[in-house]
Amino acid sequence: MNNFKIAIVGAGPAGYFAAQALQNLQTEDLAFSIDMFEKLPTPWGLVRSGVAPDHPKIKSVSKVFEKIATTENFRLFANVELGKDLQLEELVTHYDAVVLAVGASKGKKLGIPGEELPGSISAAEFVPWYNGHPDYAALNMPLDCDTAVVIGAGNVAMDVARMLALDPAELDPTDTALPALDALHHSQIREVHICARRGPEHVAFTSPELRELPKLEHTSVLINESEINQALERLSALPDSDSDTKNNLDAMLAIAREEKLKQDRLLRFHFLLTPLEIRGTDRVEEIIFSVNEVHGDTVISTDETYTIKCGLVVSAIGYETELSSNFEFEKGHLKNQQGRIKDNLYVVGWAKRGPSGVIGTNKSDSTETMKNLVNNLDSPKNSGDFLATLNLKNIQYINQNQWEKINETEIAAGEPLGKPRVKILEREKFLEI
Ligand code: NAP
Repeated sequence: MNNFKIAIVGAGPAGYFAAQALQNLQTEDLAFSIDMFEKLPTPWGLVRSGVAPDHPKIKSVSKVFEKIATTENFRLFANVELGKDLQLEELVTHYDAVVLAVGASKGKKLGIPGEELPGSISAAEFVPWYNGHPDYAALNMPLDCDTAVVIGAGNVAMDVARMLALDPAELDPTDTALPALDALHHSQIREVHICARRGPEHVAFTSPELRELPKLEHTSVLINESEINQALERLSALPDSDSDTKNNLDAMLAIAREEKLKQDRLLRFHFLLTPLEIRGTDRVEEIIFSVNEVHGDTVISTDETYTIKCGLVVSAIGYETELSSNFEFEKGHLKNQQGRIKDNLYVVGWAKRGPSGVIGTNKSDSTETMKNLVNNLDSPKNSGDFLATLNLKNIQYINQNQWEKINETEIAAGEPLGKPRVKILEREKFLEI
């Protein structure tokens, strides 16, 4: 029987699905001992700190992660950071294979003047803020203005815009981090503009997310019907179009035709606007866009500009992988071949393919890499238990039992408040428990 030691760095969906794939690939002659390292005191990655709190069903996949984690020969070491507590060199030397599942946490930059002004932030800060990520939960969000602009036409932009535009009472029964919930209750923002640089037929939103917008109780969602009709016309002139695009346009048309009776809060969609400059003296005061046109299948800018007066700009235009060690990058993710970076080093998830797809996409993605990994295995190293190294370094890691205690504590705190949990936000508190 060959028992290989595998290290997985990152306890998000891609990391857990990699562990599951390895567990499923075990045979009578082949076994894996999996150690999962996570820099945060908590596992679950984007399921905890990315998925919007008003989407609790998506978070139920955490039950699958817990099942994987409580399977034999799996150990969690949370609160252990690669590049700080541990070096990659140590892992690749000790383990038979190392799998990087480190995601993509750095928000892409717009690269326009004024982007650094106070009041201009990235979704890479805003999303972990409302989700109680320990590094972001204490940020002071500038919600003391009446208008916010969200740049981007993907599901992250949609989450951010919805969180800013909904009545915060709708978040009371969720696990929104308490300081963020309080700040949102005191927010002065009543108008949110979500701005896409291309046409309605090019957006990266998905139709279920669009179709749920009319359910917002106190927010009028505004889409200009003629813009959708023009997009439908352009689409019909193209030789072929995919059903997702048609579904999106149908969902947007339904929103455009909906009677707007909700008044006090407003979420407005804009298309064909490229951000040119953010202006303001001491903080964001307005954003200037160039107005674009669609010609065939290309989008070109015109001389016309469009200005929105606002106090907050959130850019949600994608993410890049951030790693302290030296790696070769390709379009913001780690260069790899079917998940292999080199030798016994592999990558899965957003760090492998870039920030795309839903949580389930990581299952097939991780399985591909793990099959490749298993095919390249030779014979197990005889390198002892890595626990000795962790103990020698005096690293205060959080193991699966300790995480379960934290999890129970959070859930118990939520119960009297009618919430799924109250998230703990400070690293010291996790360690205390
Ligand atoms: P995304 O889906 O790739 O969308 C990025 C958006 O940013 C695109 O509309 C893109 O426009 C725009 N953009 C890029 N650079 C820009 C620039 N310089 N100026 C203006 N706009 C720019 O990325 P995401 O929203 O970060 O989402 C990442 C992944 O997570 C996606 O697969 C998404 O579906 C998934 N996700 C899913 C859910 C859910 O299932 N509920 C929730 C959140 C995220 P162009 O198309 O013109 O480049």
